[in-house]
Amino acid sequence: MTSKREPKRILILNRGEIASRIGKACRELGHIGIGVWTDNERNATHLEFCDEWVYFSGKSNKETYLNTEKVFKVIEENNIDAVHPGYGFLSEDYEFARMCEERGVTFIGPSSRSIELMSDKANAKATAEKAGLPILPGSKGKVETVEEAMKISEEIGFPVLIKATAGGGGRGLRVCHTADEFKRNWDSAKREAGKSFNDDSLIIEKYVINPHHIEIQILSNKNGKTYHFYERECSIQRKHQKIVEEAPSPFIGTDEELRAKMCECAVQLAEYVKYDNIGTVEFILDENKNFYFLEMNTRIQVEHTVTEEITGIDLVVCMTQVALGEEVGIPSQQWITKIGHAIECRICCEDPITLIPSPGKVTAFETSFPQGTRFDNCLYRDLEITPDFDPMVGKLVTKGIMRPVAIRKMRTALRGLLIEGIKTNVPLHQVIMSDETFLEGKYATNYLDKVNPQGDVQTDFNSERIYIKLAGIEAREAGL
Ligand code: ADP
Ligand code: ADP
Ligand code: MG
Repeated sequence: MTSKREPKRILILNRGEIASRIGKACRELGHIGIGVWTDNERNATHLEFCDEWVYFSGKSNKETYLNTEKVFKVIEENNIDAVHPGYGFLSEDYEFARMCEERGVTFIGPSSRSIELMSDKANAKATAEKAGLPILPGSKGKVETVEEAMKISEEIGFPVLIKATAGGGGRGLRVCHTADEFKRNWDSAKREAGKSFNDDSLIIEKYVINPHHIEIQILSNKNGKTYHFYERECSIQRKHQKIVEEAPSPFIGTDEELRAKMCECAVQLAEYVKYDNIGTVEFILDENKNFYFLEMNTRIQVEHTVTEEITGIDLVVCMTQVALGEEVGIPSQQWITKIGHAIECRICCEDPITLIPSPGKVTAFETSFPQGTRFDNCLYRDLEITPDFDPMVGKLVTKGIMRPVAIRKMRTALRGLLIEGIKTNVPLHQVIMSDETFLEGKYATNYLDKVNPQGDVQTDFNSERIYIKLAGIEAREAGL
């Protein structure tokens, strides 16, 4: 099938692994991907997947990826038709999306109206309730004063969770078991929210003990039709941030009724708000499989990879097509099927025991993976990881016809991933992938605290790693 349409010029407004991922999607669609580099990343690997690139002077995110003035200047000077924001940065900034719309530049994501409605946790929960989704007891919208917040907490009963209305990445969350703890946490949550999100408003929610985080991937087209792509289990977390994700969810397992109900709720919400691009509806499940709407992420998510692996559908391609008004080519929901099992381990530059970020310079990077491994990453030898970078430098993804096969492949892939010069959480993933609770699929969000895989981390010398490194050096010397 040949397409006669003109290629579009797409600005990839992000860095790291997701910038490469978007570059690949642009190429596949025959569009021109335009990458960004800054004073912080002169050799960024994502530029290999772009057809052109532009320079943003400066090192900090404020001077570069978050600087809308610079972004629009670049858009004008380079005849840009569309912007892909990736995740983080401007991806959930409805004012930026609106500015794009006003200037006739396509924002590759939902409309500013959808982002504004759903990216604020208070609005999103109220909307989900109206759409008929189950929600957790908590404040009706933002809470202004600590007195009001205390009153609500006493009504719903401790433990409660304080959340930043504009929150993301696990920041601004505080679990409070008692009234005293609540009073101590309120001000610090407000300060952290203000600093992280430029918005210090907070909400209160009932805290579920040892819950599961399970989310549904959706895609809506411009005509208001929404498809779902099944669920992802994201309950292995540190500091309320995911580190391992899998699809399908072992907790849902063979409970097809629950799976269908959750997928139906996600579609129901998206259609209720006339949603119009990619999104994820996140749910919390208690031990009895009762599920509650948590929030909606109005962007491509880090862990979209596992969904792509089990459905065979390229979600970044799809979201780009929807935004540009092109045909996605999914005839109906029944064409979206899943097969097998996929797991993602987020590879982060951090101490595998304390989980504290560990920036530095990568002195060696080699891979020797089993068949079918996917490694979305931004690594290369000499890469300097500064504290400005997100500590996540790669996503290792394996799949298998059944969960044990995906796990076995992940164990092999982790052994074949060599990163030196910085600390990474690879040794922690190795422990998790052999841990009994994980193997049984019987884990909840308290996994790291309860099972403590950090306690079994081995960071000793491993002869196999020397061979991977030697093979890499030899291959380079041979000009391969
Ligand atoms: P996901 O649900 O896709 O895993 P996360 O909440 O972990 O999303 O965030 C995805 C990425 O975006 C992370 O790298 C995180 O640091 C970043 N991020 C999330 N929310 C924000 C925000 N409000 N501001 C800046 N970065 C954010
Ligand atoms: P963020 O925007 O930072 O992703 P979320 O509301 O999605 O914030 O919550 C992040 C994580 O915090 C969840 O994945 C879950 O582990 C935990 N969490 C959030 N809300 C609750 C709750 N009401 N009860 C228990 N845990 C929760
Ligand atoms: Mg979330």
